[in-house]
Amino acid sequence: MSPFSRDTSKETAPAEMPGDAAAPTAATGSGEWFLPEDTRRDVARLFEKLTGPVVLEVYVSPDHNVPYNDYLAKFVRDLARLDARIEARFSDLSDETAKKRDVTFSPTLLLSPDAYAIRYLGAPLGEEVRTFMEILLRVSAGQSGLAEAAKKRLAALKDPRRVTVFVNPACPYCPGQVLNAFRCAIERPGLVAATCIDAAQHTQAATAHGVGSVPHTIIEDPDGSLAPLSILGLESEERFVDELTSMRVTPATAAGDEPGHAPGAAGKVEEVDVVVVGGGPAGLTAGMYAARGGLSAVVLEKSVVGGQVAVTPQVENYPGFATVPGARLMEMVAAQTRQYVPVVEGAGVDEVKIGRRIEVASGETTYLCRALILATGATWRKLGIPGEDRYFGRGVSACAACDGYLYKDAAVAVVGGGNTALTEALHLARLGASVTVLHRRDAFRAEKHLVDALTREGVDVVWNTVVEEVVGDETGVTAVRIKSVTDGSTRRMPVKALFVAAGYIPVTGLAQDIGLALDESGYIKVDRGLRTNIPRVYACGDVTGGVRQIVTAVGQGATAALSAFEDISHPYWRK
Ligand code: NAP
Repeated sequence: MSPFSRDTSKETAPAEMPGDAAAPTAATGSGEWFLPEDTRRDVARLFEKLTGPVVLEVYVSPDHNVPYNDYLAKFVRDLARLDARIEARFSDLSDETAKKRDVTFSPTLLLSPDAYAIRYLGAPLGEEVRTFMEILLRVSAGQSGLAEAAKKRLAALKDPRRVTVFVNPACPYCPGQVLNAFRCAIERPGLVAATCIDAAQHTQAATAHGVGSVPHTIIEDPDGSLAPLSILGLESEERFVDELTSMRVTPATAAGDEPGHAPGAAGKVEEVDVVVVGGGPAGLTAGMYAARGGLSAVVLEKSVVGGQVAVTPQVENYPGFATVPGARLMEMVAAQTRQYVPVVEGAGVDEVKIGRRIEVASGETTYLCRALILATGATWRKLGIPGEDRYFGRGVSACAACDGYLYKDAAVAVVGGGNTALTEALHLARLGASVTVLHRRDAFRAEKHLVDALTREGVDVVWNTVVEEVVGDETGVTAVRIKSVTDGSTRRMPVKALFVAAGYIPVTGLAQDIGLALDESGYIKVDRGLRTNIPRVYACGDVTGGVRQIVTAVGQGATAALSAFEDISHPYWRK
């Protein structure tokens, strides 16, 4: 496995470290390569896009985090060997340069520190390696890559900002938030300082900031009197810049977490045959099939590609893959789709207008299309109990792949009895957590294969039990109050985290806005061709209900795109 992707379920430290363990002292050192040959080839190809020099400063201490120090030093040394425009410098934490740069943690990585305030505390691993590569290219070009509106807002910034993003290498949402912070640091180098901290490598900082979920972002106004902002989750670039500049949390809109554009105020107009909303397995496949049929298409994803699958630790029932991390599977699907159509991440849809042409407003762009495919998926169902919202991000989580690592040595509970609950419970148990599954009935609805695995792992199950309250203090969750549905007795169960896996509810905000018919369970009503009640609008994947499997979502994505192709070529509503 290359350091570009990592299955963190079985590791406590970077495991892929060939060669000797000594930290290199010179950027041009010869000898064994650390990066495998295919990874070096990929990096060399990427480095063809370098436009200027980049300095990478690595700080380590022989007494702390040795495996991570070694990994980082060897990784950076290889990068410098691959391209002369990368200059690697290595220092000990006790050196004068460390003091000058105010570096106190081992390992720390600085990117072109004379020009920018961009640093990693902890070696960038897993998902963060790709962010690092992107930022390296942007530093090389001196271009933030932010949208014009964001640049304009940042241009008006007068006071300094310090941004810290806590991450976990397996979290698919973290890289997006790190990119938000680092891009702002590139755009306003004198004012914005950004740091990415791996919460598992720097547990002290994570504990001091009460990090119980990632990405967790803290924005500070170091010179002023404004209170720091503490933000959970991935934000759109626009929302992030808004909060960074105003030092105020942007109120959520009814449609979701986006700050709300003025629809129609979009700057750019693009014409395509098909707009697909949603970048999970259904949406990505729909985009690919539309393009293969000869239609122009775009896939818009408000967050990051992959949908629920991206946060599924292991997928074991997708044909062709005996077992594969969900994020990896979706990376492959997204890469294949991108060979055909643009897949735009962080592109929420603000408004859809159905007319002769369908107008889809997304940020600064309005798409004019002939067909719209909704693959908006589903979102986790809350329990609706006291303490659930209050401790969300401080022990309450709906993503074991993102947050599980923070509780790998703790007692945790998982609520639910379906495939998600058991997949999450197995992941947490394999990380080392002491897991109890709390289920409201006396039998699971999950696949037998998962039930058997849970038994083999020796995971405790408390049957016929519901969670009535999440209990905690200033440190986060300390316990859950549970109630037996058979005899009505209640008790407190001490846990550090509660993972909620009680099913999903369909995301139908857009569907309802445009008047799509829903079934009695709230899913979009579709026919066999995935057509909705509005001509040229289709729906696929979990938002249509049914068995909600990756393999069926993929099939539905293909069907919806083929129906769109058929209808654009021979419109059924004109027959
Ligand atoms: P699910 O199958 O709907 O199961 C939800 C579970 O939560 C059920 O056991 C349900 O209990 C319980 N529950 C619901 N509301 C509750 C509440 N208020 N309090 C306590 N418990 C509550 O949902 P899922 O497991 O998220 O799966 C969703 C879909 O994705 C399914 O089609 C599933 O097959 C698929 N999926 C597949 C995989 C895989 O194949 N590896 C992985 C994840 C998800 P009851 O059983 O009593 O109703």
